[in-house]
Formats: sequence, C-alpha cells, structure tokens
Amino acid sequence: MQLRELAASIRRGDRVALAKGITLAENEPVSAAKLLAGVGTPGRAFVVGITGPPGTGKSSLVDRLIEAYRRTGLKVGVIAVDPTSPITGGALLGDRIRMAGHTGDRGVFIRSMASRGWSGGLSRATSQAIRLMDAAGYDLILLETVGIGQSDIEVVGVSHAVLVVLMPGLGDDIQVSKAGLMEIGDVYVVNKSDLEGADLMVISLLSLFRGSERSPPVLKVSALSGEGVDKLHDAIERIRATFATGEPGLRLKSIRGMIVETARGAAMERLATVSENRAGALARQVLAGKMTVEAAASKLAG
Ligand code: GDP
Repeated sequence: MQLRELAASIRRGDRVALAKGITLAENEPVSAAKLLAGVGTPGRAFVVGITGPPGTGKSSLVDRLIEAYRRTGLKVGVIAVDPTSPITGGALLGDRIRMAGHTGDRGVFIRSMASRGWSGGLSRATSQAIRLMDAAGYDLILLETVGIGQSDIEVVGVSHAVLVVLMPGLGDDIQVSKAGLMEIGDVYVVNKSDLEGADLMVISLLSLFRGSERSPPVLKVSALSGEGVDKLHDAIERIRATFATGEPGLRLKSIRGMIVETARGAAMERLATVSENRAGALARQVLAGKMTVEAAASKLAG
C-alpha cells in the first residue's frame, strides 16, 4: 500500500491501517515520517499519561477508564509502553488478558509498544503512535508507562494530563518524592483502596504537597471494585474541559513534548548507526592522549 493511501485509510479510522502505521513508526522511521506528514496536524485527541511503580494497578485502572469513557461514547486508544525488560513480560501478558474484554469493541484500540531501551519509558514511535491514533479519530488516548524514576517522566511531555498511580504500603512517602513522581502528576491515585493503609497513603501524599505550590487532587480508588473510578473520571474531565476550550496551552505543551521525543529518538538512531570505524578511530586518539573521552563523544554525537 502506498503511504498516501495508508494515511487516507488511517484518517478514515481503518484499524488495520492504523496498526500498520504504528508498526511502520516502530521499524521504519523514514517512511513513518512521510506517513505522518500525510495524516495532518496533531492535537485533537486528549492524551492521558498513566504512570507509577510496577504493580500499583495501572493496567487495571486503564481497563476501568476504558469502560467509563466508552459509556460516554468517546473512542479510546490505549498505548502500553513496555520497558523491554524480561521482568515485565508477564505483566504485559496480564494487560492483554485484562483488556481482552474490549477486543470486540470497535471504539477501542489497544497497542503495546516496547520502549527499546532508550532512556525514559517513551520512544519516538510512541509519540508517533499517539499522532496516528489522533488522526484515526480516537478522542482519548491512554498512555500507560512504568514510572520507576526520573527516566520515565517523559510521559509528562506528551500528555495533556498525567495520573500518578500509587498504592498502600509502597514504602514511605519519601520514596515517592525521590522517584520524581511528586512533580509530575496532575492527579494522584491511591489505588487498591480496598487494602489496608490507603488512608495513611493519602495523608502522607497530602502532607507532601502541603507547603508546596501545587495541590493536585489525591483520590482513593479501587480498580478491583470500581469504587472511586467515577471521581477519577470527573478529575480527568475537569482537565479535559480546559483542553476543550480551544486555549492552545495544553496542546502546545504536548506538541512540544512530541518534538523533543522525536528529536531524542532521531539522535539515538543516528548514534546507533554511527560506524564502528568512526568510534574506533576516536578511541585510538583517546588512547594516544590526543583527545578526552568527552571530546570524542561529542564528536560522535555531533
Ligand atoms: P500495573 O503493573 O501497575 O499495571 O498493575 P496491574 O494492573 O497489573 O495490577 C497489579 C496487581 O494488582 C494485579 O494482580 C491486580 O489484580 C491487582 N490490583 C489492581 N487493582 C487493584 C485494587 O484496586 N485492589 C486490589 N486489591 N488489587 C488490585
């Protein structure tokens, strides 16, 4: 299929074409760039980043949010970013099983993507997948990543709203603040509220925010029972309402994040394809004391 035809099919909402487009974004950056030029300006879909430590219930919450938003008639796209580690292999399988309930629904499109090991949970392809889903008419895009520290906070860049998902007994609040999660959330979710310690977790989070300039909502939710999901939905809707006013702030922020992610991806690719010979030649100069490692590295990067 020609790229122009593929772009047109994606814009018509063809699911097979969308899947093909995302695969192209993962494997063939040059063709993907051409494809994206044909799908139009990004910025229609509302992107919700969902991050937090592994096992806090992000996938379960995504499942609940799909349900809640499908009831309101919105088309929902889901991107689950897998940090490409053998440990999460099982979790990803879990995602598929849980979300399997939506497979028959034409208004839901779910895609797992590998972050391919570059720093941060996002890859160039992820931000391109968001744009393709946007072009295909998905109103809401849920972007699920594993937030295990600073490296994963790029999700903030491309999202219009960020949910940080925590759970009781995660350890002390200091750990949460150390992981860089306190700065990034628009909404904090203490999931597994059916378990002991949820109130304590809420109190510690609120006290962390006390005295800071920010006071994001902290919500107790149980993805298991569904309790609190309506409040979470409302909190997201409040942010989406500011997006819907046409005020460009949030849209600009997300597009800026996409530009940065795409540039980062391109730089990583360029580095990966740098010939061994070139690095070898630089190594000889470093060994001979003619150049520092830093100077050689910046030559390679430039
Ligand atoms: P993720 O790694 O953050 O995506 O977490 P998952 O959604 O895979 O959930 C991890 C585990 O926690 C699974 O066994 C879920 O069934 C369980 N879980 C998720 N939400 C809840 C909840 O609200 N309460 C309880 N008790 N367990 C939950």
